[in-house]
Amino acid sequence: MSRVSYVNGRYYPHSRVSVHVEDRGYQFADGVYEVILIKNRYLVDEEPHLDRLNRSLQSLEIAWPMKQASLKQVIKEIINKNKLKDGIVYIQITRGVAKRDHGFPKKSKPTLVITARPLSVPNLNTNNKGAKVITIPDIRWRRCDIKSVSLLPNVLGKQAARDQGAQEAWQFDEEGLVTEGTSTNAWMLDTDNNLITRYLDEAILSGVTRLTIMDIARKEGIKLVERPFTVDEAKKSKEAFFTSSTSFLTPVVQIDDVIIGNGAPGLLTTKLLASYLRYLDSPKSNILIN
Ligand code: PLP
Repeated sequence: MSRVSYVNGRYYPHSRVSVHVEDRGYQFADGVYEVILIKNRYLVDEEPHLDRLNRSLQSLEIAWPMKQASLKQVIKEIINKNKLKDGIVYIQITRGVAKRDHGFPKKSKPTLVITARPLSVPNLNTNNKGAKVITIPDIRWRRCDIKSVSLLPNVLGKQAARDQGAQEAWQFDEEGLVTEGTSTNAWMLDTDNNLITRYLDEAILSGVTRLTIMDIARKEGIKLVERPFTVDEAKKSKEAFFTSSTSFLTPVVQIDDVIIGNGAPGLLTTKLLASYLRYLDSPKSNILIN
């Protein structure tokens, strides 16, 4: 099946679609994006994703390219055109095309790009061996709460992880506190069974999966603490994991050279993953694509 992508009001064969060379997303990373998981033709947590998109756009004073209701229609259409059952939708909005000049152009129309592709989602029977993460200094800007397409430190961090046989890099600030992964939020379980994840501030992205897992954890009576934790604490943790729309909930079994727990996904992590996978299978709070 050949892929279909959407740019500024039209659908194109993916292999032939492009944007203008003077698009500000291309020249200045002057844009924002969202990634939404599709499971069984349901858009998972569509509303919180669109809310976050709205916050990102507002922070950068980029106008909505169309009404939210129309955007939802285009998202459905792109999923249908790509005949997706399980996959992801990528939405990118930039400030648009203008003569290269750093300040905002007086007149520009935001560029809207929507792509979609298949992604297989694990199920309860998937054998999960867990992941290794490395730790790296956080060299990003100070507005990581904005889901900006300016991702170079994240790109370098992810590559450093891959070069060391790891799946993710956890970034830490000047005080040695873990901020987040390069494309995921970070979690640990301490020896008193407190499930810990950093509180929201401008140092991290408010992950939609993070919010869903927090909700699940509360409903399951797990002691949840929102606070930063150090790399040292994480290395001494009973269990650890990271979350995102595309990595779901991934158990961490090694941080740098330190094995976490007994080197296999922890009990609570496994339980939360199962609950999250059940959540993905329940139509609750998700939108069915007709
Ligand atoms: N943190 C960063 C830096 C990310 O890029 C992402 C996702 O791309 C996340 C966290 C997780 O966000 P979500 O759960 O909404 O996918």
